[in-house]
Amino acid sequence: MTNTSPLELVVVPCRQDNYAFLVHDARTQQTALIDAPEAALIQAALDARGWTLNDILITHHHDDHVDGLAALRGDARVIGAQADAHRLPALDLAVKEGDQITVCGQATHIFDVSGHTIGHIAYYMPGANLVFTADSLMALGCGRLFEGDASQMWDSMQKLRALPDETLVCSGHEYTAANARFAASLDPDNPDLILRIKAVEKARAAGQATVPSTLAEEKRTNPYLRVDLPEFKAVMGMPDASPADVFAKVRALKDSF
Ligand code: ZN
Ligand code: FE
Repeated sequence: MTNTSPLELVVVPCRQDNYAFLVHDARTQQTALIDAPEAALIQAALDARGWTLNDILITHHHDDHVDGLAALRGDARVIGAQADAHRLPALDLAVKEGDQITVCGQATHIFDVSGHTIGHIAYYMPGANLVFTADSLMALGCGRLFEGDASQMWDSMQKLRALPDETLVCSGHEYTAANARFAASLDPDNPDLILRIKAVEKARAAGQATVPSTLAEEKRTNPYLRVDLPEFKAVMGMPDASPADVFAKVRALKDSF
């Protein structure tokens, strides 16, 4: 994968199917962690490289994204959503949509991507072409609507869809194979989806992660990013419905798939 910045990205599989991410700037030796599903495997990934955490970025309050934080935080700066400060571990920096912070020397933009939870945020590093989306936009999917509603999640999808095609979507779980089976049930003749499913099956059979993905491939294949396209509304049999209504239908079908 091409990455013009000096940032190194390490994907750390955790727990059953979670991903944590490390980013490291070799020039300054700064390291950041995005989400802390568990401590031991993340600490091992740091130790193997001789890295120490400067920043920990939290996307949302669920246990499988924060459980490792207490054991990992040390002197690191812990960043999370202001809106969720009351139910997150203690934050050193509380952020909200529109804020810009510096992490590993990279300008990092905060997006509110509520839907899965209220107060879920994404971190976008345009200089490194990275966006950390956790349980908002996922590879071929999106997070389940536990706290927000479909129109809110659709608003969140549109913010992420507006990023450049080459952006790497670093999402929180290895759910891609199941998401692919569902996407194919809706949109079986989408040639890009057919190709992607083959690639996903091959990667999984080889024990490889399917995360991160590119935003370009998500735009072509992820049903939740396609609910306002006439061709997708047509395959859903909802040509005149609003995008939010098509989104709600897709999400509801997935919940019982
Ligand atoms: Zn979650
Ligand atoms: Fe999660």
